[in-house]
Amino acid sequence: MQHFCEHLYDRFCQDSSMSAADTASIIERVQKIKNCTPAPPARPPSPLPVQDIFMSSQPALPPQAIFVEELAAALEPHLLSRAQLWELGYPVEIEPNSTKAVMYVNAPPPRPTVFTCWNLNAPEFVPGSQTDSGVSLSNSTLRSDSEQVTDEVERLCVRCNNVFHMTRNGKYLTQSFCSYHWGRVVDGHYACCNKGFGSKGCAFSFYHVWSGTKPGINGPLEGYVRPHSPRGGVYAIDTEMCYTTAGLELASVAVIDVNGHVVYQTHVRPSAPILCYNTRFSGIRPRVLDRATKTLQDVQYDLLEFVGTDTILVGHALENDLKVLKLLHTAVVDTCAMYPHARGLPMRRSLRDLSKGLLGRNIQQSSAGHSALEDAQAVMDLILLKVKEEQMLRECQSTSNKLYSFEPYYPLVCAA
Ligand SMILES: [Zn+2]
Ligand SMILES: [Zn+2]
Repeated sequence: MQHFCEHLYDRFCQDSSMSAADTASIIERVQKIKNCTPAPPARPPSPLPVQDIFMSSQPALPPQAIFVEELAAALEPHLLSRAQLWELGYPVEIEPNSTKAVMYVNAPPPRPTVFTCWNLNAPEFVPGSQTDSGVSLSNSTLRSDSEQVTDEVERLCVRCNNVFHMTRNGKYLTQSFCSYHWGRVVDGHYACCNKGFGSKGCAFSFYHVWSGTKPGINGPLEGYVRPHSPRGGVYAIDTEMCYTTAGLELASVAVIDVNGHVVYQTHVRPSAPILCYNTRFSGIRPRVLDRATKTLQDVQYDLLEFVGTDTILVGHALENDLKVLKLLHTAVVDTCAMYPHARGLPMRRSLRDLSKGLLGRNIQQSSAGHSALEDAQAVMDLILLKVKEEQMLRECQSTSNKLYSFEPYYPLVCAA
């Protein structure tokens, strides 16, 4: 067993495409499973990117075609089931071959504000839905969907957690400012200003903003598209969004292939008036987005040029990307499910933490906001790392079984 582990360690280290952090992490996990003795310290990191790890191990084969097929096969066990798609809040088709979607959204965790209860019976449907025609009906917002619906709707601000009211076509009826913290709560304090949990916000806006969805079932939703024919391929996809009167809308999208090459990248002009560019997180600058000419429909058309029914899309919390892309797709791998939080759902590990912990790479560090391209590359590398790790474990177990089958001959060898 000791010899086997040394051999395995040498193989890992000879795979010069892997970083020291990856190598050490994988060896540690393999040793844990096989009860091996500790391996020597990891060698210096390699200059090659993680996405080349398979390419370097198969130099004699046509790399791209074989690699994508192998990766697709390796990802098959990680494809989300229909139950997982629903549980994680992915948009799903109401009925086969339709382009109408429905999605389930978990209630947000409670926060210390004036607002204490989300009205699940409020007639809030995402703009564009069949019932969201903007037709004025009664004057109440607190009745069930089966009753008459008012043009005035109740929204929950995702920044300050206060309720506000607006019409279905986006006119604000609530005259109040939005005071909020943009930082996470760390040890009872907001990371943005270090004030205590529940304190008055350190940032200010003239408008409250909402996500575009409500807790519970959302739908029927229109404007969705889906692929119609197989095209193969594995792509990582990431989007950035901004707040409009219709909720979160697509502002930027990036798609990369298994080699980290950019397949598609564009800014997108939202359909509704923009309330907040969300620059701190999205990285979207007003001067850039104001020049964008692509619409959501243009992007949907472009994506369906290379995304087929069997194309595997990978992402982190990919349901949010598919929501704003209004794309119905079931062959998806989500790094949230691949690397689950220790406490389970609805807790999720952030992409930034996964990238730092598993890839040894800091992302989302820029004060200029996130980059869809940087996030997509991190997702693809995390996917490749998992597949590589599983491949090594299989080889490890296979070699171990072979060694075990030779065990009866050891006394003879020793005697000789
Ligand atoms: Zn703050
Ligand atoms: Zn607010």
